[in-house]
Amino acid sequence: MNLTMNPDDQAYRAKFLNWLSENIPAEGTSAEAKISGDWCAQAEIFRKFQRKLFDAGYAGIHWSKEYGGQSGTLMQHIIVTEELSTNYPWKMFDGLSVGLVAPTLLSRGTEEQKKEFIPKILSGEHIWCQGFSEPNAGSDLANLSTSAVRIGERYVVNGQKVWTSIGHLADFCILVVRTDPTVGKHKGLSYLLVDMKSPGVTVRPIKQITGEAEYNEIFFDDVEVPFDRLVGKENEGWLIAITTLMFERIMNEISIVPKLQQTLDRLIDLTSNTTRYGQAMIKDPVYRQKIALLQVELEVMRLNQYRNLATLLKGEMPGPEGSIGKIFWSELNQRMQETAMEIMGPYSQLLKGSKYAEDNGKWAFDFLRARGNTIEGGTTEIQKNIIGERVLGLPKDTVRRN
Ligand SMILES: Cc1cc2nc3c(=O)[nH]c(=O)nc-3n(C[C@H](O)[C@H](O)[C@H](O)COP(=O)(O)OP(=O)(O)OC[C@H]3O[C@@H](n4cnc5c(N)ncnc54)[C@H](O)[C@@H]3O)c2cc1C
Repeated sequence: MNLTMNPDDQAYRAKFLNWLSENIPAEGTSAEAKISGDWCAQAEIFRKFQRKLFDAGYAGIHWSKEYGGQSGTLMQHIIVTEELSTNYPWKMFDGLSVGLVAPTLLSRGTEEQKKEFIPKILSGEHIWCQGFSEPNAGSDLANLSTSAVRIGERYVVNGQKVWTSIGHLADFCILVVRTDPTVGKHKGLSYLLVDMKSPGVTVRPIKQITGEAEYNEIFFDDVEVPFDRLVGKENEGWLIAITTLMFERIMNEISIVPKLQQTLDRLIDLTSNTTRYGQAMIKDPVYRQKIALLQVELEVMRLNQYRNLATLLKGEMPGPEGSIGKIFWSELNQRMQETAMEIMGPYSQLLKGSKYAEDNGKWAFDFLRARGNTIEGGTTEIQKNIIGERVLGLPKDTVRRN
């Protein structure tokens, strides 16, 4: 396999970087912005910049023009995703919309749904959230109980979702609901596209360990959803939900490798600039070994990502192998953050606002946020079950009752 970009792709990257240097919002370059808790303000910056990307032809690059894309190549899409991840802190707002919702609609939605929603996702007009988890349905997602009853040309939805990232900012939600409680739990589910401004939707932010409220609980009380917002067939929503989860695991990796490289580069600076017993810690053989190991692990992840991308470049759907990358990036980020804590010692506990905090508390913030990495998008234990059963063909996990 040739792992270098061809000259056309290299020229495309240079052209995009040039555009980016002239158009990136000024706020995007400040370290302060990256740990600001003002989510509403960040969402507005994101929407404006996403519109610029769309107008300049840098959104939905490999998707068809009839859905607002550019009919370009997947490699061009990957280049733009990588560069935005490195240079632009608000990439996460489109992680769900562009990374999960649009590819799910492209592969499973109706023509009308693709034409109505994908251009608005690409232009930043619509931000989406993912309403899957419930108080009694996380790892065992098929256990969910939010119900939808069909009445004429609409569904009436009742129930509760939880841990819904950016639900307080979202315009729409991909919602998995139970439409037939009389059949096996995987069989009676359906997948709806819900307008978050519908009467009966209540969003309550939940404060997390970082002190920010990034995710929410959402309540649905007699919320009406038009029948044409059903994706796929009624009671076949499990298949669509799995499609979304496969995209979540594989597409996120594209933006995570450059982010982890950035974290590692900052870690190397931190180790070089921190002294212990009168010498820079980068000279300590223990820390040199630790950092070298992190770099090797990041290279392993990069190569695994190339393997996943090769599958996509062949036009195939992402498969259960995406779980390997999910375990790897989440645990690798935690190891990087833990190494930073060791290097800073007690200073690592200082938060934003303290004059002695490194990087104005960004390390402390990122360490705390990284705890969620091995839970969000499916826990490490669940990814191991998927790899065991669906990649290695081992016998089924006996704890889960399907
Ligand atoms: C930062 C963050 C953002 C999130 N964003 C969203 C979002 O936008 N939308 C959304 O729908 N959800 C979101 N989630 C929820 C996330 O998907 C769930 O938390 C996750 O799937 C785990 O479910 P749970 O919390 O119910 O834990 P549980 O399923 O109750 O699991 C508890 C523990 O038991 C273990 N366990 C469970 N079953 C098994 C088994 N069969 N074998 C071995 N171990 C098992 C788990 O690994 C875990 O350690 C988010 C979570 C976090 C932390």
